[in-house]
Amino acid sequence: MEYLANGPFRDTLVVDNWIGGSARPPGASRFERRSPQNRDDLVTLAPESQEEEVREACEKARAAQQAWARVPAPQRAQVLGRLAQLLIEKKEQLARFAAREMGKPLREARGSVQEAIDTAEFFQSEGRRLYGQTVPSELPDKELFTYRRPIGVVGVITAGNFPVAVPSWKVVPALLCGNSVVWKPSDDAPGTAALVAELWRRAGLPPGVLSVVHGGGGNAAGEYLLRQVDAGLVDKISFTGSTEVGRKVGEICGRNLSIPSLELGGKNPLVILADADLQLAVEGALWASFGTAGQRCTSAGNIIVDRRVMPTVREQLVQRARSLRIGDPLDESVDYGPMINQRFLEKWLEQVSVARDDGAEILLDGRRITPDEKPASFSGDAALGLYVTPRIIDRVKPSMRVFREECFGPTVNLVEIDGLDQAIQVANATPYGLSSAIYTRDARAMLRFKEEISAGMTSVNNSTTGAETHLPFGGNGWSGNGTRESGIWVIDAYTRWQAVNVDLSGKLQKAQIDLTDAELGPAPDFSSLT
Ligand code: NAD
Repeated sequence: MEYLANGPFRDTLVVDNWIGGSARPPGASRFERRSPQNRDDLVTLAPESQEEEVREACEKARAAQQAWARVPAPQRAQVLGRLAQLLIEKKEQLARFAAREMGKPLREARGSVQEAIDTAEFFQSEGRRLYGQTVPSELPDKELFTYRRPIGVVGVITAGNFPVAVPSWKVVPALLCGNSVVWKPSDDAPGTAALVAELWRRAGLPPGVLSVVHGGGGNAAGEYLLRQVDAGLVDKISFTGSTEVGRKVGEICGRNLSIPSLELGGKNPLVILADADLQLAVEGALWASFGTAGQRCTSAGNIIVDRRVMPTVREQLVQRARSLRIGDPLDESVDYGPMINQRFLEKWLEQVSVARDDGAEILLDGRRITPDEKPASFSGDAALGLYVTPRIIDRVKPSMRVFREECFGPTVNLVEIDGLDQAIQVANATPYGLSSAIYTRDARAMLRFKEEISAGMTSVNNSTTGAETHLPFGGNGWSGNGTRESGIWVIDAYTRWQAVNVDLSGKLQKAQIDLTDAELGPAPDFSSLT
């Protein structure tokens, strides 16, 4: 890894793949990652990995895995402790680099690094647990036990919107459980990934236990990694990204009888009932809809509002959205920065026509920010950055496309309902089921919402976004396949149960075979019982 001086802009980070414990310059070319807040700022040059390079990383991972699994789990966990320490030391630099590379406001980028620190610390302690069980046998002189065993080689493919936190949710528990990992980071944040990989290297992993191969997705490093499942070199894929690509991952893993971890898109409902604290609800809705420029899987997609309070919510939300500060993510005061990449920007710009075709009303017309058309408080470079203003769509109905389709950007829909029953019905009416929220003061409404909403995560009087490292994270329906990240639950995703029986009777005892009278011995005597 080296820095190139880059004229009037900041240095360019030139990164290599990390294969089998060594830095590996690319066999072919490097791709560019430019900052989304300034397209002239060349942040990173990273390898466009070829299939042989990805395959070699998987072979090295397979060769290293068994020896790693033999290292006692508390010792494997010590690597996580060292990683946490290094992340603490480098938190500010890493956060600043991530903000520059993928456009997340600095405060959020720091939070993303903090989540990785929390994850490493949590799982360091889990290394002293990884419990199995002792189980009573139905036969005499026989002991039963369960053990968690690693799965083998795990391929990790991640999206760019949480370039430090989300990979750590996968790589940390996978390694703790004794697997080896080949990670294909997002091509939206290759430099951030390389800096994180460097901290892993310093934390002291044996060669080959973690490899990093950079590159694109389709017909590139991501797809090459998936091919290694068919080739028998990768035992499991852990994927975070779009539902479309998640389905492909699921198909490939399914035909190999392997269970992937799939964390996919969302169209998350946020319900505001008539009795809600409206100020709190609008604050939560604003953050859920426009935080990270709406580029979170847990961003609110549909704000579902009781008709009695809709006029107030509508007015306050529009007013607050108009006053959001958009601009340079390194400026500490901005509410949101640029779109992460050109692809997201173009798709977001097109989505307004979906709403118009559906017959919805565009209440706040989100647009590209240009030098000629920019909000007064804007602090970025309008000519060179991928910035947009917020969009609010009104009079949205569950039958509309715009209600059902994920919109990865600063857009939110207003959907009017009448009472709790309809709110729950509408909140469940998208194919997704990642996050959800309800604002109400009624304890019975809270209870019913928690029980009847189909979502992996539910907030009461809080926004749809936000995660804690010791709580499960994941979704239902099109948001995933039911696997969860984080907390003790993720350990099930990176281990398989082994059942062991030890027979100390000195004879062949046959389970479920009726015993003869001689084998049963004398019958119990109940005659003294009255
Ligand atoms: P994406 O699916 O296009 O890309 C995600 C990753 O998969 C990237 O590393 C990409 O290079 C790779 N990839 C793309 N096509 C591939 C292919 N054919 N084969 C193998 N790998 C491939 O996702 P995106 O659009 O970059 O990210 C945004 C999506 O991610 C949104 O839908 C968002 O909701 C979702 N997301 C989900 C979570 C979650 O935890 N549920 C978290 C963050 C983002």
